[in-house]
Amino acid sequence: MGEFELIQRFFQDRSRPPADEVPVGIGDDCAVIKPTPGAQWLVSSDMLVEGRHFLSTVAPERLGHKALAVNLSDLAACGATPRAFTLALALPRADAAWLEGFAHGLFALADAHGIALVGGDTTAGPLNICITVMGEAPAGQALLRSGARAGDDLYVSGSLGDARLALEVFRGTVALERGADFQQARRAMECPTPRVALGQALRGVASSAIDVSDGLLGDLGHVLERSGGLGATLLVDALPRSELLASLPLPLQRLCTLTGGDDYELVFTAPPEARDAVRAAAAASATPVTLIGRMEALPGRRLLDAQGRLLEWHEASFDHFKS
Ligand code: ADP
Ligand code: MG
Repeated sequence: MGEFELIQRFFQDRSRPPADEVPVGIGDDCAVIKPTPGAQWLVSSDMLVEGRHFLSTVAPERLGHKALAVNLSDLAACGATPRAFTLALALPRADAAWLEGFAHGLFALADAHGIALVGGDTTAGPLNICITVMGEAPAGQALLRSGARAGDDLYVSGSLGDARLALEVFRGTVALERGADFQQARRAMECPTPRVALGQALRGVASSAIDVSDGLLGDLGHVLERSGGLGATLLVDALPRSELLASLPLPLQRLCTLTGGDDYELVFTAPPEARDAVRAAAAASATPVTLIGRMEALPGRRLLDAQGRLLEWHEASFDHFKS
């Protein structure tokens, strides 16, 4: 199978963007996309490298899903409506069974979000997947990391920590006795749900937002820094976690929820007057949301346990160049 046959069979033939929105998709030198009047474009890329962002044991369907999901999560964090994406793919060989699975996972998620594949690049090389997503938001309404204010409430969507739990099982530092428990954690790691509907529902409600890709503490740090050197108090034992994680030793729960990484939940802030609006956004998007702390003028992150005691915490968030 040659390069052009591969592109046509696994990508071009499966991408059917609406002609009025995407007059030219895959097949020309550029895609041509019609902007919605009054909207701004939001663009983001995320690359997945074998051995660094995923293990060679992952099923190709899940890899196709995850490659797009992590990108959609960035659009969600900005409150954008997904429009289109491109796919740059380096493959060691043209393996039809692998490509079939990968395309299946990729397009299942793309179709669920009404987002069209409009182009890309394909080359031979070590397995590497780079997706660029494009979305839209009404002018001036994108959610940014920089909008948090002292006194704002701090929230997180969904639950944290299961993906890190799976990683620790793969690393051999944690053993889960029941196979179903391992499958649950592994699913969280390999099949994250991007919080696209919640992100859009939070436009005009949240003051700032970020998605948790590198761990709650580290990603919260980006919001504090970008919002002018704010601080925050975090209620560590209020962090939402699965029943599975809650059944494990407390230090492991804290490690996984605070510094997990690969959660793809939204962390966002909103003024206390917006509590009803936050609840309405959570309900409208059918996404659980938990109040986990407060933004403060005093710089730094303070972690309180269930008894209101200050916790010492040193481990930095996951950093690709440190671990
Ligand atoms: P060019 O050489 O002009 O950059 P290519 O020969 O690389 O074009 O690609 C041909 C067409 O196929 C282009 O429209 C490109 O966007 C698209 N394409 C290539 N690889 C992919 C891919 N993995 N997924 C989607 N579209 C792709
Ligand atoms: Mg060209």
